[in-house]
Amino acid sequence: MLNRVISNLDFSISKYQVLCKAISKSGYTSITLADYLKLDSDHKMRPYLIMRHDIDRNPERTLDIARLEYDNGIKATYYFRTSTASKGIMDKVASYGHEIGFHYETIDKMKGDVKSAIDLFKNELAQFRVYHPIVTACAHGNPLTKHDNKHIWKHCRLSEFKLIGEAFLSLDFARFAYFSDSGRTWRKSRSQKMHGKDDVGSIYDYLQPKDTDELVGIINAGTPGNICVLTHPERWCSKPTDYIKRYVLDLIFSAGKTGIHLFRTVSRNNI
Ligand SMILES: [Zn+2]
Repeated sequence: MLNRVISNLDFSISKYQVLCKAISKSGYTSITLADYLKLDSDHKMRPYLIMRHDIDRNPERTLDIARLEYDNGIKATYYFRTSTASKGIMDKVASYGHEIGFHYETIDKMKGDVKSAIDLFKNELAQFRVYHPIVTACAHGNPLTKHDNKHIWKHCRLSEFKLIGEAFLSLDFARFAYFSDSGRTWRKSRSQKMHGKDDVGSIYDYLQPKDTDELVGIINAGTPGNICVLTHPERWCSKPTDYIKRYVLDLIFSAGKTGIHLFRTVSRNNI
């Protein structure tokens, strides 16, 4: 009974299956970030959908999502932090044809010291590359720090690390709509998404899906030229206990982010 209720709710694994089926039947070609960046400009004229996943915690949840995508012919890009980089899970995800990338947070870890952050970036990337040929990276956004991890790219270049792309910096958002499940909403919430840190502006920001069904409607209609979807697999649960735990955690995160947003707005305006 409870399983059936959960399966109809948003951010359940069943709802993710609905999303995957819509993508596989849509006019968009699913592609990893690395494969998209390797295309020449003529080929970039086709409509593409890049499915990106940030593995912030609970890496074991990744496997159901990766398998569902594989079953629906979707190739996605998975960004693991050093804290979620489980070799067994990354191997399995890669075996489905997905891209493994590096979810870096070295400026946060080095408390804003850019030089140390660059050294750490190099060392952590080398550890990832022992097992997987990492060619793209993506900044982790922590609402509790004032740093932006992407700031290291003001001091060095991706090519110095043999990287071909960074998920926020290497896509042209004049051509891509960007939908993220951060804050348990697809909408561009100013308190739940940190613009410039883990969110980007796109010319398609007028599209504000209120739930995954509306996102499916946008994909079916094919309105944006290209689409980038970001999800956090830990959020998409199948078991009722996991679903309820995650729902409560999201409520707590949401209240925290609203508090931080209010605090920063008040501080900025000297209220
Ligand atoms: Zn993250």
